[in-house]
Amino acid sequence: MSKREKILSATWPRELVSWFEREHRPMPWRSDPSPYKVWVSEIMLQQTQVVTVIPYFDRFVSRFPSFKALAAADLQEVLKLWEGLGYYSRARNLHQAARALDEKYDGKPPRTATDLREFPGIGAYTAAAIASIAFGEPVPSVDGNVLRVCSRLWGIETPLRDKALADDVRARLTPLIRTVNPSHFNQAMMETGALICKPRNPHCDQCLLSRYCVAFKTSRTGELPVVEKAEKVPHYRIAVGVIWKKGRILIARRAEKQMLGGLWEFPGGKQGKAEALEQTVMREIEEETGLKVKVGPPYATVKHAYSHFKITITAFRCDWLSGRALPKASVELKWIPPADLPNYPMPRANRRLAGAIGDCPD
Ligand code: SF4
Repeated sequence: MSKREKILSATWPRELVSWFEREHRPMPWRSDPSPYKVWVSEIMLQQTQVVTVIPYFDRFVSRFPSFKALAAADLQEVLKLWEGLGYYSRARNLHQAARALDEKYDGKPPRTATDLREFPGIGAYTAAAIASIAFGEPVPSVDGNVLRVCSRLWGIETPLRDKALADDVRARLTPLIRTVNPSHFNQAMMETGALICKPRNPHCDQCLLSRYCVAFKTSRTGELPVVEKAEKVPHYRIAVGVIWKKGRILIARRAEKQMLGGLWEFPGGKQGKAEALEQTVMREIEEETGLKVKVGPPYATVKHAYSHFKITITAFRCDWLSGRALPKASVELKWIPPADLPNYPMPRANRRLAGAIGDCPD
C-alpha cells in the first residue's frame, strides 16, 4: 500500500468525528457557528478555558452582535467588556479586525485561512479554526492540545515548542482532514486534547485513538510530548499611588501599543534597588505625572501572574502636594470620583486594588 493510500485508509479520523458529533459539549458558538461568533469565540479561547469564556462571549455578542456593530464601537467599551479575561491585545486586535472587515469587506470575512491571516490577531491556528469551522475549509488547526495528542498518537519526539513539530503535525493532518467534515475534525481534535488526552494522566481507557496510539502502546504517555524545561519567570515588586485631591483620585490610561494597552491604572512602577516601596511610589509618581505627593499607609497588596513575569503590587494612599498632572508615561490622566472607577476598564490587579479604596479621606 502506498503512503497516500495508507493515509486515506486511516479510519480514526472518521471514528473521531462520529464521536464528536455524538458527545461534544454544547457551547454557544457551536449552536450557531456564524463567522462572527466563531471568530469572537476563537479569539477569546486563546490561552483561556471554555468555562471562563462562555459568560464573556454571551455578553460580548449580545452587546456587539456583528462585525459592523463591533466596528462602530468605542475601544474603551470593548475593553470594559473584556475586563478580567486578560491578554487585552486580543480585544484591541479583534476591534481593529472588525473595522478592517467593515471597510474592506463590508463586514463579510474572507473564507480561507490564507486570507484570514491578514487580520490583526489571527495566527495560523486561529485562521485555520475560523476557516474550517465557519466555512468548511479542510485545513488543520494545530494548537498546544492538538500537538500533544499528535505527539503521543504518532510517537513524535520533536520538542513541543519547536516550530518543526507544528509543521510536521500540520503536514500529517492535512490529507486526513480532507477525508472528513473539517469543522468537526478540528473540533474533535481540540476536544480530545482538552478532555481526554490531558497533559498529565491522559484518560487512555476512554480514548478511541488508543488502538492507534504509539505512546499508549509503548507506555510512554508520561514522556510524550517532549517538553523542555521552562525558564523561571522574573518577579517584580510594584508600588502605585492612589492620589487624592479634593475628593477625586488620579488614574492613567496606558498607550494602546503597550501591554494592557488602553486600560486605566494607578500611577506607579517597579521598585528600585535598595529602595523602600514608599520611595518608589513617590519617585514613580513624579516621573510619570510631575506631581509631588505625601505618601500615606498602604491600602492593599495583591499578587498577579502574567505569562512572562509575576508581580506583587502595593497601592499606597497618597495626598497631592503640588504640581499639575501631566501624562509623561501614559496617554491620558484623569481626576475622577472613586465611585466612577467601575466605569473604566482596568487590569485585574488594579481592579482588585481599587476594591480596597474607601471614601475620600479628607
Ligand atoms: S490513547 Fe492516551 S495518549 Fe494516546 S491519544 Fe488517547 S489519551 Fe492520548
